[in-house]
Amino acid sequence: MIKKIIARNIGYPLYDIITGCRTLRILKFLNESQWWSSEKIKEFQLLKLKKLIDHCYKNVPFYHDLFKKIGITSDNIKKIEDIDKIPILTKKVVRNQGFRMISNIHDKKSLIYSSTGGTTGAPLNLVKDNHTKSWVWALFYRFFNWMDFDFGDPRVIIWGQKIVPKKIKRQIQENINNWLKNDYFINAFNISNNRMSDYIEKINKIKPINIHGYCTSVYNFALLIEKYGIFNNRIKAISTTAEVLQQFHRKKFEEVFGCKVFNQYGCGETNSIAFECNVHQGLHINSEHVIFELSKDKNNINNGSGQVIITDLDNYAMPFLRYQNGDISTLDKKLCSCGRELPLIKSIKGRQGDTIYSSDGTALHPEFFTHLLKESGFYDNYNVVKYQVVQESINKLIWNFVIDKKLKIRDKKILMRYIKEYLPKMQVEFNIHDRIPNEKSGKFKYVKSKINKKGFFLI
Ligand SMILES: [Zn+2]
Repeated sequence: MIKKIIARNIGYPLYDIITGCRTLRILKFLNESQWWSSEKIKEFQLLKLKKLIDHCYKNVPFYHDLFKKIGITSDNIKKIEDIDKIPILTKKVVRNQGFRMISNIHDKKSLIYSSTGGTTGAPLNLVKDNHTKSWVWALFYRFFNWMDFDFGDPRVIIWGQKIVPKKIKRQIQENINNWLKNDYFINAFNISNNRMSDYIEKINKIKPINIHGYCTSVYNFALLIEKYGIFNNRIKAISTTAEVLQQFHRKKFEEVFGCKVFNQYGCGETNSIAFECNVHQGLHINSEHVIFELSKDKNNINNGSGQVIITDLDNYAMPFLRYQNGDISTLDKKLCSCGRELPLIKSIKGRQGDTIYSSDGTALHPEFFTHLLKESGFYDNYNVVKYQVVQESINKLIWNFVIDKKLKIRDKKILMRYIKEYLPKMQVEFNIHDRIPNEKSGKFKYVKSKINKKGFFLI
């Protein structure tokens, strides 16, 4: 309880002051706007969209040239549906335009730089400002209310931690921040039989209200909890992201943790896109922050599904207008019975990857490989067009790349060194190809396992 008081009154407000974010102020606004009518939400979106278009025209070289060429200004956008006058933005365009996507009035030092691996492994460099970061976090804190707890309540987060160690100063800052916010992290790259007793002991001490994380990591964690015995449980909600939450995941979480499950949807380019409320009829689109569209192709007309097209209304540093992120979704025409008129997403199909299981009982989340390429500087040294990691047998991985030059022995050794830290017995073979084919179904898995998984994991 004391930790919660510290988190609510010191941790969260202090975070805003230090980072220059306005999270708590926006949260106050969002707690009201969630009850607005559809019309009022659309009016709000229109105002934000027009403002963003004005900014893009004046300050973002790529959009300045594009809008000039096609003759678009904010005056041409009279209603929210007029957004389709703006061409769809693809990953290829973002990659080719590079710095021309970034606003020239922002102080480059104040921006947040990151990258995303994308569905095929080709990296995309991203830049965000504090404005969008504030909205993303505020929406996330509103999601806490939807799950029936407050910001400041103790949470356990199962997430991929740094593979290449951070600078000590940065690590200390993060530890203080997590402590002040009452968050405890479990490394999604280190869920194993050997570590479970430590995790359970820690969780018994923390008594979290919420467990949040990559869907398959929380799933693997649930399997081990089932095996090693339930902990001191007062969990109110399991929330998952980064992967498709399937019915069998939901069932297992409800059985093991005895609480409801809440799905979350976002992508590296735009976070906090949609969250599930406590009525569980779908995911509410956070329309105060994004404009969510589906492509109007033949497929969409037939079964209601289409390519996701996202406009982030708050990222002024590197604006994404009508960005096609590669996911496929279906919308629900009905409104949710909770009373919120924020539209509902019925289903999402996104990036696919399998967990890698090792003979010592470790379950390694597929995001490990994207993080490793990013953190080891691999993306800076090679032009990665596509990659795929295949687990051929319990102790053998094959890592296939489509890259622009020969793989240096030194770089192979660096990748090997970090893989061995997490999977000591694993042999890794590196191959370079001209192309890596998709599955027969047409989908692509960036990490693929050919082994019978559970048998090894739950020995
Ligand atoms: Zn609802």
